[in-house]
Amino acid sequence: MNVMKFGGTSVGSPQRMKEVAKLITPKAGEQNFVVLSAMSGTTNSLVEISDYLYKKNPEGANTIINQLEHKYMEHVDQLYTTEEWRETTRKFLCDEFNYLRSFTKTMFTSFEEKVILAQGEIMSTNMMANLLLEQGKKAVLLSALDMVRTDKNADPDFTYIREKTLQKLSENQGFDIYITQGFICRNAYGEIDNLLRGGSDYTACLIGAALQTDEIQIWTDIDGMHNNDPRIVDHTEPVRQLYFEEAAELAYFGAKILHPTCIQPAKFAGVPVRLLNTMDPTAPGTIINNKMQHGTIKAVAAKDNITCIQIQSSRMLQAHGFLRKVFEIFEQYKTSIDMVCTSEVGVSVTIDNTGHLVDIVNELKKYGTVGVEQNMCIICVVGDLVASNVGFQSLATGALKDIPVRMISYGGSNYNISFLVAESEKRRTLQALSDNLFTRK
Ligand code: ASP
Ligand code: MG
Repeated sequence: MNVMKFGGTSVGSPQRMKEVAKLITPKAGEQNFVVLSAMSGTTNSLVEISDYLYKKNPEGANTIINQLEHKYMEHVDQLYTTEEWRETTRKFLCDEFNYLRSFTKTMFTSFEEKVILAQGEIMSTNMMANLLLEQGKKAVLLSALDMVRTDKNADPDFTYIREKTLQKLSENQGFDIYITQGFICRNAYGEIDNLLRGGSDYTACLIGAALQTDEIQIWTDIDGMHNNDPRIVDHTEPVRQLYFEEAAELAYFGAKILHPTCIQPAKFAGVPVRLLNTMDPTAPGTIINNKMQHGTIKAVAAKDNITCIQIQSSRMLQAHGFLRKVFEIFEQYKTSIDMVCTSEVGVSVTIDNTGHLVDIVNELKKYGTVGVEQNMCIICVVGDLVASNVGFQSLATGALKDIPVRMISYGGSNYNISFLVAESEKRRTLQALSDNLFTRK
């Protein structure tokens, strides 16, 4: 069995949905477990609806609901060939949109918001299941709400997920295609919840790991992971193979193609993840597996909206416990730190969540002189950067000889060297790295 996940654009139009229906039809004797995102733009619309409802503006919410309904109904006309399946799907969608409208009349809290956000995946999977049934395929829709659960820390409860997924499969034998929703789940209290934006990748990796499938395929609309950001830099190329840790670093540090934590379950289960392109299904894409290719730098990624905080204090000189005090302040405000650089009299850290910046800075001032720089960007270079691989880090640092680099972090893992630069230097930095690391190889 293969797990195949399709993102929003891959199911974003009737034409694309029909292409997906072809791709997920397995060869004789094989089975596919398919995870779908909401149609592209839908989750954003659902967020917007919720936003209006939080602001107690039911009219605003209804306008978006009506627009969305209109779009979906148009899709139905083009997606199915028989009036019977058009009617079945219209009826289902009509109930869905009336359900969304019902939230404009009740109290609105984060609980209701999560129910609203769940409807995008519920709609796309039902539409796909109906399409496959119309085509006479042996397909069945399984609800992710019965299989995927998070624990009290909002982390996926893997034991539960494995048990329930296996149970659902054994209750539904004899099908060629199993379909479920990405992103949505229940939380530890049984309420409807989700795995955060982009979370469908996570669902696919959790299910693939639970079922120990041969492969987890993540189908998007570009040809695998590129060695630099193709929207910013000229001459990027797809990376054919990545080690699990390399992919995790790239996903965390800005490569938008993958949800940052989704690689972990696949890595633990040893199931390779393959990134494929629905627009060009025969292209090789990128395989992410347990093989570390020595002596190569694979890719560069950038993470924006970074704030750098520097704390300088002579109290740090030959004292112990100073860093603990500093880090405790970030912990107290539930703010995670990305990069850290220390010297004997100071420490600089970066954060991306500035929700508590003022409080954090106020607390830090008890321990030293504090400076804050905003609009910074972390540039992360990923590959075989283990210390014994002498001279490799200098390839990256050498590329930046003309660029003001605010922080460098090397040695935290064997796969990464990160640079902090001003956002205004981002394009130049990424291009310089591409030119030096990849083009002139
Ligand atoms: N539909 C959700 C989102 O847009 C989850 C996903 O597509 O992965 O974030
Ligand atoms: Mg995605």
